Amino acid sequence: MATDASKTPVITDARRDLAAAYRLIAHFGLDDSIYTHISARAQADKEDFLINPYGYRFEEVTAGNLVTVDIDGHVVDDPEGAGINKAGFTIHSAIHAARPDVHCVLHTHSVAGVAVSCLEEGLLPLNQWAMEFHGRTAYHDYEGIALDLAERERLVADLGDKSIMVLRNHGMLVCGRTVGEAFKRMHNLERSCQAQLAVMATGMKIRRPDEALAEHTAQQYEKWDADHDVSDRDPEWEAYLRLLKRIQPDFEG
Ligand SMILES: [Zn+2]
Repeated sequence: MATDASKTPVITDARRDLAAAYRLIAHFGLDDSIYTHISARAQADKEDFLINPYGYRFEEVTAGNLVTVDIDGHVVDDPEGAGINKAGFTIHSAIHAARPDVHCVLHTHSVAGVAVSCLEEGLLPLNQWAMEFHGRTAYHDYEGIALDLAERERLVADLGDKSIMVLRNHGMLVCGRTVGEAFKRMHNLERSCQAQLAVMATGMKIRRPDEALAEHTAQQYEKWDADHDVSDRDPEWEAYLRLLKRIQPDFEG
């Protein structure tokens, strides 16, 4: 159900940040045509979430054309009447409903992420990037394209209280307390996957950090997150927003 196409949405930080995340994912080559999604809670105190209009490439997403969907899949606001992707709703609504601590859910089908999702051992803590995720990564087995609403329960059960999930034979998913946090996590996860594949491709003996060092490093990342409240300034995210304002200033429109 589309709403009045002439209605002009109020541009909030959630809209601006989410549109920025779409543009940045495309800028760094992690998009997949019109597929995969990034969603953000529309307001802190409501379950409604914002998601991309159906059929738009990521570089076409703007703060003003994002679609608002309620947790049952009803379109609440659709400025351009484009609708949404049903499979995207299945995955994202499940997590927004189950995890009030999560403001943003970011899912990708990057080549490196899909490749690591196909490995039996999954993501390995081989380097500093990847150690952020050591012992903190969930795995969800592939069930076909996510059109079955019953899969939502299994997705949520597999995710538990974690913020990173490998969707086996499919791709990657991260959660964040803010859009910026989710984007930065995905950027780090992508680098981790690319580095893992590059190391494996050498065929040479791999030097694996021991368990204690990987856990220590993961805890260092966690402490950084714990020490930074979501209301604090985020200089790294601000730097990404400045990048976009230089190269794609229309994202805020
Ligand atoms: Zn997907």
